[in-house]
Amino acid sequence: MMKTLTNTQQQVTQRIGDHFDGSHWLDWRWHVKHAVRDLPTLEKILDIKLPPADSKRLQETLEKFPLSVTPYYLSLINREDYINDPVYKQSVPMPDELITLPCEMHDPLAEDKDSPAPCITHRYPDRVLFHVSNVCAMYCRHCTRKRKVGDHDFIPGRDPLKAGIEYIRNTPVVRDVLLSGGDPFLLNDDYLEWILSELRSIDHVEMIRIGTRTPVVLPYRITDNLVKMLAQFHPLFINTHFNHPREITKASRAALAKLADAGIPLGNQTVLLAGVNDCPRIIRELCHRLLQNRVKPYYLYQCDLSEGLNHFRTPVSKGIEIMESMIGHTTGMAVPTYVIDAPEGGGKIPVMPSYMISMSTNKVVLRNYEGVIASYEEPHSYENYFCDRNCKDCHLQLNLQSAEERNAVGIEKLLADYDETIVLTPENTDRHDRRDDEMV
Ligand SMILES: *Cc1c(COP(=O)(O)O)cnc(C)c1O
Repeated sequence: MMKTLTNTQQQVTQRIGDHFDGSHWLDWRWHVKHAVRDLPTLEKILDIKLPPADSKRLQETLEKFPLSVTPYYLSLINREDYINDPVYKQSVPMPDELITLPCEMHDPLAEDKDSPAPCITHRYPDRVLFHVSNVCAMYCRHCTRKRKVGDHDFIPGRDPLKAGIEYIRNTPVVRDVLLSGGDPFLLNDDYLEWILSELRSIDHVEMIRIGTRTPVVLPYRITDNLVKMLAQFHPLFINTHFNHPREITKASRAALAKLADAGIPLGNQTVLLAGVNDCPRIIRELCHRLLQNRVKPYYLYQCDLSEGLNHFRTPVSKGIEIMESMIGHTTGMAVPTYVIDAPEGGGKIPVMPSYMISMSTNKVVLRNYEGVIASYEEPHSYENYFCDRNCKDCHLQLNLQSAEERNAVGIEKLLADYDETIVLTPENTDRHDRRDDEMV
């Protein structure tokens, strides 16, 4: 068995000891059990010596944001240059994590405020996040939910989960449920199967998504049993979290192949991280390798304003530069949507370079990735119709049962013919206050 492991894997396993003959390497529970949670063990296993000057601050960091890395993920670190290693940087704390800037927040996305029921974040109209696990195979240093990590490092009992499921059952607008956490795949198969079958028994839940980093940090979690169980719950989508091409290994490729073979469409969410992947070539390479493994790059996230993440943040312009280097230059399917998750529950806001230069009533002027400036002629006879949402009298064919009845939201209100709103006005201005006074 030992022979099939790479040199680094053998070294890591030997240093862990545990009467190890290598046969446990493929057992995901072994990796969870032997996750490295303290610095001396980390130094021993990697055979490195962390800078002594940092050690006190690193220890303080661990007390605030705990450490946990699977032996598998550790084995991907290049020990020769570990300080710059993308896997090391995502796993091992930096003293900079203790620096908190005034703009950083405990819960920047207001996930706890947008929580109408236990384990639920309901922010968008038709979909919810369902936090089914507080446990992860490893603790990413760039985690946006750092506040929760290790805090209550336990699996929510059935009661809060039942309350979450009840909320979904009683909220018919929820047509899409996203299992998140923590990592849902740290639950055992039976427990996960129970959650999925409860959700599947709800008619209005049209689709289920699972967000997991196990294909990256614990690929052996993707077992035949797990995949067989998941395949009962289609349409089921999985989003994973690769940040660097170095994370795509033989083991992770095998995990992705199993999921894809089970008919599960795969997506990937990458976080743009200074010193890890803030380079157009790295992101391009990553996206190409993902597609090769049947994973569609879904989102590229601007790093959130969570406490202790300042050293990972890049300017937004870096993300724009990366998008500019991809759109048009490479396969459209390789290009993720670059998003900033707005504070206070504003949600994901897409940003990209601008391609529209100007417009007249007859023409639109656009530029392409090469710098070509082109005009597109608008139609001369477009029959503009007034939509009063009376689909019965409209020539476009829509089965009336499928016509969704909901009010326009936000900018949509200003555009909709059927909504009387002509302006959206912020309430927290002096002008607004003065007007209120006048009315009294
Ligand atoms: C990201 C997110 C979703 C899902 O967003 P999509 O754009 O549909 O992938 C849902 N709820 C919350 C709170 C989120 O942060």
